[in-house]
Amino acid sequence: MRDKIHKLRWHFLTGLFLATAFTWYVVYREDRHGILTVAFLDIGQGDAIYIEAPNGNQILLDAGPNKKILKALGRVIPFYDRSIDLLALSHPHLDHFGGFLYVIPRYDIGGFVSSGTAHNTSEFGIFQKSLEQKNIKNIVVHRGTKVDMGDGVVLEVLFPDREVTNTTPHDGMLVMRLVYSKTSILLTGDMEENLENYLVSLNTGGLKSQVLKVGHHGSHTSTSRTFLGYVSPTYAVISLGTDNSYGHPHKETLDILNKFGVSTLRTDIEGTIILKSDGESLIIK
Ligand SMILES: [Zn+2]
Repeated sequence: MRDKIHKLRWHFLTGLFLATAFTWYVVYREDRHGILTVAFLDIGQGDAIYIEAPNGNQILLDAGPNKKILKALGRVIPFYDRSIDLLALSHPHLDHFGGFLYVIPRYDIGGFVSSGTAHNTSEFGIFQKSLEQKNIKNIVVHRGTKVDMGDGVVLEVLFPDREVTNTTPHDGMLVMRLVYSKTSILLTGDMEENLENYLVSLNTGGLKSQVLKVGHHGSHTSTSRTFLGYVSPTYAVISLGTDNSYGHPHKETLDILNKFGVSTLRTDIEGTIILKSDGESLIIK
């Protein structure tokens, strides 16, 4: 297997402002024979999703609530790899960003993207400081931005489509769709029904995805019938901890998924869930 060092560019293209497109360089590690890996990490109650393109480019979307992320990442990133190309945050709630406080000091981070929603908590303040200390800029992305991971893997931003600095964390959610040829995964964060309806109203056709990361840990406030009908997934993944105090996943959500014939996987039952795709077919570990 070749193990050459090769510099690649990542392009962030906004539909409107090509001039503002920026690039950075990452290290090409080894040939992965065209396989995209997406791992829904077992970090307890929260979300943490690791994405690795065939060329080795990596994104960590959310990091769970605490240092459990380090052990979970150790299962999908080799010990000698001390860098992650890009961190992304769906929204500033602790069960999504808390783990970054442990990741940032231990890995070289290429960049950070978010919807730009702020949250006035001491923990989020500490997180923002940790980014500043390592000179990691917060790049705010909007609908139309495409993060090109290379080898045909693209992360499309579906929401926000506006400035969301001062909205509530859930209303300023970063919602994205990962596409690799015939494989598509909708990454919803804690999106609730109001935003689901809004995305349906914008473009019903653009939601259809093979895999749905179920919104808000399986809460009944997300995954409406209408939304699920347009996404029409084969698989759903719920990220949550055992015996969480919210009663997630709610029975209503499981019933709807069941009614639509969606195969549902849960990190509280399966542990870390790893999807592998060659762009044609999907394998679930
Ligand atoms: Zn939340």
